[in-house]
Amino acid sequence: MQYNGIEFDTYFKNYPDKDGFFGKYGGSYISDELQKALNEITEAYFTICKSRKFINELRRIRKEFQGRPTPITHLERLSNSLGNVQLYAKREDLNHTGAHKLNHCMGEALLAKYMGKKKVIAETGAGQHGVALATAAAYFGLECDIYMGSVDIMKQAPNVARMKILGANVIEVTHGLATLKEAVDAAFEAYAREYKDAIYCIGSVLGPHPFPLMVRDFQSIVGIEAREQFIEMTGELPDAVVACVGGGSNAMGTFAGFLNDPVDIYGVEPLGRGTALGDHAASLTYGTEGIMHGFNSIMLKDENGEPAPVYSVASGLDYPSSGPEHAFLHDLGRVKYDVISDDETIDAFFTLSRLEGIIPAIESSHAVAYGMKLAKTMGRGSVLITLSGRGDKDMDYIIENYGIR
Ligand SMILES: *Cc1c(COP(=O)(O)O)cnc(C)c1O
Repeated sequence: MQYNGIEFDTYFKNYPDKDGFFGKYGGSYISDELQKALNEITEAYFTICKSRKFINELRRIRKEFQGRPTPITHLERLSNSLGNVQLYAKREDLNHTGAHKLNHCMGEALLAKYMGKKKVIAETGAGQHGVALATAAAYFGLECDIYMGSVDIMKQAPNVARMKILGANVIEVTHGLATLKEAVDAAFEAYAREYKDAIYCIGSVLGPHPFPLMVRDFQSIVGIEAREQFIEMTGELPDAVVACVGGGSNAMGTFAGFLNDPVDIYGVEPLGRGTALGDHAASLTYGTEGIMHGFNSIMLKDENGEPAPVYSVASGLDYPSSGPEHAFLHDLGRVKYDVISDDETIDAFFTLSRLEGIIPAIESSHAVAYGMKLAKTMGRGSVLITLSGRGDKDMDYIIENYGIR
């Protein structure tokens, strides 16, 4: 299928190019020292991860440890409450650990094992990536160092406890604002020091090449399964596919299954409290081109051109940029990026819980809210929504701030 001059039959072969570019986005803007370490990962990725042995082992792990394939559920009561459009959910909330993040963490940790590394290193903000990576490290018997700002350590006590129970070292980062940005810097510094024994594992389709490529490929199992399952269930493709976009990994994994199909694709960004800078984290919708954390993408900047402060009710979505491939698909128009507010998100959270018996993560509730809106405007057809995770982690926050509706 062709779209705006891009041939999607061969898309995955051509994008990213050998230097990690999706058009002008992506690439690698880092120190020579780090580049040396990342070149080693790139090389290993293109040899080891394409080997039969690696592919077979990952396939077995997905089935026997993660519980894949995750099902698609027809959201019948929700659909009926809205009209004629049929809504379906791809259930990444049923993936082990309750979200999609384990899909790429298991891939990255398996690569670490094949490369003979003893340790995996990462940063975490809300703690979800840290927990997924700590899980993968425990499974493979790898050491795991998770860098986390002291502010986040205080706010995310249950996830800190999970990481520790799983055997990870949670390393407190105290300088600056002591949140995600400082944790990213500290993790990169540690990796530059320790790369002979360790690999760095990023949490989304972000960062310098080859991470956006690697994470997309590991997450594409979501879209590949979903396409096959949806056709088996209904005999046809969905008319629309919807996923929430923070860094963009669950969305990119989902979209990868449908880019070459006549399917409308929607990425949903968090509008938070409103359109003023600092009140949202809708980087693709309101941002401009720029380089941060080692890659070129579309980002939200403050008056000095630095990454702007961002906000969303969903802590997994509050990042001032998104993966370079999303920036590319945005400019191309192949994926439509749109926004959902905190209030719409919370409504969708309670609606899905009440009508379907599924408590979604607040992140995923953005996609549910958008799917519901779309259903009302479409009149007929079908919408497949990726439920990136379950809402158990959000219970205390919801009760405290919204009560029981
Ligand atoms: C981390 C997280 C997200 C956001 O990450 P992406 O890379 O944009 O997918 C979305 N949903 C859940 C449940 C998460 O934990």
